[in-house]
Amino acid sequence: MVKMFYDKDANLDVLKNKTIAVIGFGSQGAGQSQNLHDSGLNVIVGLRENGASWKAAKKAGLTVATVAEAAKKADIIQMLIPDEIQRDVYEKEIAPHLKKGKTLCFSHGFNIHFNQIVPPKDIDVIMVAPKGPGFLVRRTYTEGAGVPALLAIYQDASGKARETGMAYAKGIGAARAGVIETTFKEETETDLFGEQVDLCGGCASMIKASFETLVEAGYQPEIAYFETLHELKLIVDLIHEGGLAKMWRYVSNTAEYGGMTVGPRIINEQSRQAMKEALARIQNGEFAKEFVLEGRTNRPVLNALERQEHEHQIEKVGKELRAMMSWLPKE
Ligand code: NDP
Ligand code: MG
Repeated sequence: MVKMFYDKDANLDVLKNKTIAVIGFGSQGAGQSQNLHDSGLNVIVGLRENGASWKAAKKAGLTVATVAEAAKKADIIQMLIPDEIQRDVYEKEIAPHLKKGKTLCFSHGFNIHFNQIVPPKDIDVIMVAPKGPGFLVRRTYTEGAGVPALLAIYQDASGKARETGMAYAKGIGAARAGVIETTFKEETETDLFGEQVDLCGGCASMIKASFETLVEAGYQPEIAYFETLHELKLIVDLIHEGGLAKMWRYVSNTAEYGGMTVGPRIINEQSRQAMKEALARIQNGEFAKEFVLEGRTNRPVLNALERQEHEHQIEKVGKELRAMMSWLPKE
């Protein structure tokens, strides 16, 4: 079992006379900044003046400033704006204020690991990454608990980077649940792998391929939608609550036998080979380069793929069927 760190392993006092700039007030920014504030720490939220978040952060009772002002005043700067814009904002508004002794913090390692942000050598660079969405980071904190987080140290110029990171984790409530140490490399590469191969990419492709297989064989698209997409949530909820064992326990014996014997024929040697190739492209930086260029050229591939996906039959059928489901949030 990996070593876990908790509140008792952290000292909030190391942040007592410091100022923390949380850049961004979106999912993570709103959760983390409010928790830090409620932990009695000095927080400034760094934002753009004309953006929607400015009012929201003020309304939440926080001190708000431009990104540059916040970065200038702060000892610890936490980057919680979308990953693809971090480099520009960093270069224009943050880098000029990074003096020796400051700490630059992230909740995802992409920009550091793939050299989009290259910080000066005399500052600390760390990651505190909650393993859950911002609203849960906030809600669990107000309930006296927290969401577990990853801690990583990339640069330790002061010799106190770990102490700062653990205190930050305590401030957002994460150390109540547990903190696991990792590296920027491990966090970034496994995060990209998970979302490409399994969670988003693999899952969406599996849904579409099984739907198409049924429809091409002459079954009604509506029935295919229920079987290949709709019911996935029930299965994932069981896995989430109690691992694969709970899911196998709750489904029928027919589903258990069929699933256990046929599953490995679907995700087979060929699929495993494709997974290894995807991992290699992440590790050697090819994916990162492709994604950065995609952003710099106004998302030509992403826009085209989104359009194609939107026109897929499963999306049209799904829209009609979901309109019959009164319990779902309005689209
Ligand atoms: P969001 O997309 O929710 O961030 C939006 C915020 O960024 C808004 O407050 C927005 O302000 C602000 N923003 C956008 N552009 C600028 C700009 N040019 N200058 C200043 N502020 C700007 O980000 P997330 O919270 O999803 O992600 C933040 C980081 O956390 C990322 O590194 C991500 O990988 C990581 N992470 C995210 C998780 C999640 O649950 N979403 C989970 C774990 C890690 P405005 O209103 O002005 O647009
Ligand atoms: Mg992830």
